[in-house]
Amino acid sequence: STLFEAVELAPRDPILGLNEQYNADERTGKVNLGVGVYYDDQGRVPLLKCVHQAEVDRVQAAGAHSYLPIEGLASLNKAARELLLGKDSEANTSGRAFTVQALGGTGALKIGADYLKQLLPNAKVAISAPSWENHRALFERAGFDVVEYAYYDPQSHGLNLDGMLASLKALPDSSIVVLHACCHNPTGVDPTPAQWQQIADTIKEKNHISFLDIAYQGFGDGLVEDAAAVRMFVQMGLTCLISTSFSKSFSLYGERIGALTVVTSSADEAKRVLSQVKRVIRTNYSNPPTFGGAVVAEVLNSEKLFALWDAELAQMRSRIKEMRDQLVSKLQAAGVAQNFDFVLTQKGMFSYSGLTASQVDRLREEHGIYAVSSGRICVAALNSQNIDGVVDAIASVLK
Ligand code: PLP
Repeated sequence: STLFEAVELAPRDPILGLNEQYNADERTGKVNLGVGVYYDDQGRVPLLKCVHQAEVDRVQAAGAHSYLPIEGLASLNKAARELLLGKDSEANTSGRAFTVQALGGTGALKIGADYLKQLLPNAKVAISAPSWENHRALFERAGFDVVEYAYYDPQSHGLNLDGMLASLKALPDSSIVVLHACCHNPTGVDPTPAQWQQIADTIKEKNHISFLDIAYQGFGDGLVEDAAAVRMFVQMGLTCLISTSFSKSFSLYGERIGALTVVTSSADEAKRVLSQVKRVIRTNYSNPPTFGGAVVAEVLNSEKLFALWDAELAQMRSRIKEMRDQLVSKLQAAGVAQNFDFVLTQKGMFSYSGLTASQVDRLREEHGIYAVSSGRICVAALNSQNIDGVVDAIASVLK
């Protein structure tokens, strides 16, 4: 027998499988709303002007490609932490928070998960129901038992706050709670500031460890506004890990740029925890890549490029809002009976549309419009050319 003889074929990633099906579809007018990527109004992944400028600068500087330190580029880490916590935040100036560069948001989650497994081998990890599909897999692969806390309420298309608080209370003390800091994926439903306060109070009461995942800072209401939940937790003195992704906010998906920020209780604690986190990185991939990190660091640290980035982010954000507005008003104009106003209050790239799995099947089979079977659509894949076709198709499967 051979070594790999009995190996089973792993199940296909559901979303990547959808992309393959879409690519093989020969119909004209097909639309892929299943993706997790921001497209511009021409249906392209944008190259941001601020990113292009930083790339040109980097190439012209003709720097060598040496190793970075294990924790990555210092100028990136400092700027990423300030973007998250605020420059003048006490956690920042006191030195009790530190940041390491990571391979995207996924890489930041993985470093954090591996480190927590070493620190709290028996802790439970709780993720939202539903959550980004890789959360469960990633924490299970790190060796944790993963459970869900109540989150989405399909009746109201909103947050099930009471259910969520009850779930958090029912967890064993000192569990690890994974939260979407803004622009919840897949539902688009975020807690209000007052609801965040109740969530944070419960977490504090139960001595849970918060792992805040922020993959869409700037896609909700703005860079500062979208960091509000993180800053609330930190100001309350909660110990947290925060995974930042720059994939969407810089449209730098393939460069794998993110950061893990850990907020401890003192500068001395931070120093010791950092030394352990560096061991996790060293034994996984040694140190992060140079190019994308240098690009993001330059944008974050240059006043001019930062202002350009902020403006380009605002454009992406307002285009998404515009698509939400048009989707709702055009569906109404098409005479659908259901009220879709909830789409207007959802935040970020995604919308739980309320479409059922069989309606999603009909959209694909009859109209060439691809969505996730949960009804999740990527609003950032809608544009002025495809929206009317999408609206007509949705209207027809709702009748
Ligand atoms: N976390 C959430 C909630 C996400 O939606 C994503 C990307 O889709 C990630 C993390 C991972 O981001 P990255 O592509 O930077 O690894």
